Amino acid sequence: MSAGEWEVVVGLEVHAHLKTRTKMFCRCELSYGAPENTHTCPVCLAHPGALPVPNARAIEMTILLGLALDCEIAGRAVFARKNYFYPDLPKGYQISQYEAPLCGPGRFELPDGHEIGIVRAHLEEDAAKTVHAGGATGRSVGAEYSLVDFNRGGTPLLEIVSAPDLRSAEEAMSYLRLLRQTIRELGISDADMEKGTLRADVNVSVRQAGEEGFRPRWEIKNMNSFRFIGRAIEAAFRQQVTAHEAGEDLVQSTYDYDPDTDRLTVHRSKEEADDYRYFPEPDLVPVEPPAELVDRLRGQVPELPVVRIEQLAGELGLASAVELVATGNEWKAQALAAEGVELKAAAAIAMNRDDFLPENAGALAQIVHANVTREALDEAFAAAAEGPIDAEDYLGRTALGDEDALAPVIDAVIAAHPDQVETYRGGKEGVLGFLVGQVMRVSQGKADPKVVTQLLREKLRS
Ligand SMILES: [Zn+2]
Repeated sequence: MSAGEWEVVVGLEVHAHLKTRTKMFCRCELSYGAPENTHTCPVCLAHPGALPVPNARAIEMTILLGLALDCEIAGRAVFARKNYFYPDLPKGYQISQYEAPLCGPGRFELPDGHEIGIVRAHLEEDAAKTVHAGGATGRSVGAEYSLVDFNRGGTPLLEIVSAPDLRSAEEAMSYLRLLRQTIRELGISDADMEKGTLRADVNVSVRQAGEEGFRPRWEIKNMNSFRFIGRAIEAAFRQQVTAHEAGEDLVQSTYDYDPDTDRLTVHRSKEEADDYRYFPEPDLVPVEPPAELVDRLRGQVPELPVVRIEQLAGELGLASAVELVATGNEWKAQALAAEGVELKAAAAIAMNRDDFLPENAGALAQIVHANVTREALDEAFAAAAEGPIDAEDYLGRTALGDEDALAPVIDAVIAAHPDQVETYRGGKEGVLGFLVGQVMRVSQGKADPKVVTQLLREKLRS
């Protein structure tokens, strides 16, 4: 980057719903897709006098994540009340962690070696869900009325705050994808943006090459699409650079990204921490994780995706290794490789196919080795997701696309029908259909007619 050139500065606050059985401070079961307001109780509906009891499993999951991100684990974490009013927050405050989070500073390594600082990871409860109805967009503006579903209220929410260390939309996405994969592999959350179990607040500012410190940032809240996060960062970059170059003073604010216009518009001026009047939650004692618990959890941290990417990069190349691991397709490639399929081929095959039952890996490897057509392979993988498959049986029924296997059959058919061959070579191409039919008959219908036609043409030309 040369002097005067602008760079984007991005920090992400990632929220993941923890996969506990029950809510953060009560015994209501977590429920996705259950009828509205059927998983509630006096605690999560904020009835006066109802007292919260923290979910031990959620605390363990947060510590596990903190250990995976190399965070300091607090000896004493304190739940705090974050006060604000919203219809989906019946208590008038959210129980979160403020001055003393469970996980302190840590770091997250990207495959290119760039290290992203983790400021903190803390545990809080999610708000309920407001549904805006009667309008065209499903947003509050233009809606006739709004309804609140309290099933989500009180869901344990893990918040992971990165330092402003990300330097491009691409890098932000890379961080987000690998963090999602890490969270999934820890088994603490489905981390699925489409289902709402993963969301991100994106903080964007710009500065010029060589500039120290940071300019005011724009915060884009509750993003739930990877694609839009990337586009929002790029749009914010363009708009901020234009504003700075025009000499405008930018202020720290919350912005909304509109994918239709590809622009950000100001949502409200950013509230400061003071506005929330944080104070320690008087209904909960501080969390003091015993050293034995932390040690036990440390033993449960699996090998991180970035480490495996490094191992795979030699054979697959860095980009393919990242793609394979970050998309969660790696286990399929490894399962096929363990059955003798070359890793590179296994990776290419695994990337484009849905999950299969692990016990089918051996049969799938056999089918891969048989060089069946792409369609036949797709079919085999689809079947392998449903129940146990038998390779012999499958190959017996499926089209034979392997040229080496077909060549002798085709040679035999050509040798057996010299008249038809001569007619074809004389210019009557219609005879080809007859010869294809003969090959199909001899192969008992297993040959792939497309491959047979092509092979016959080649052989008859020579
Ligand atoms: Zn409840």
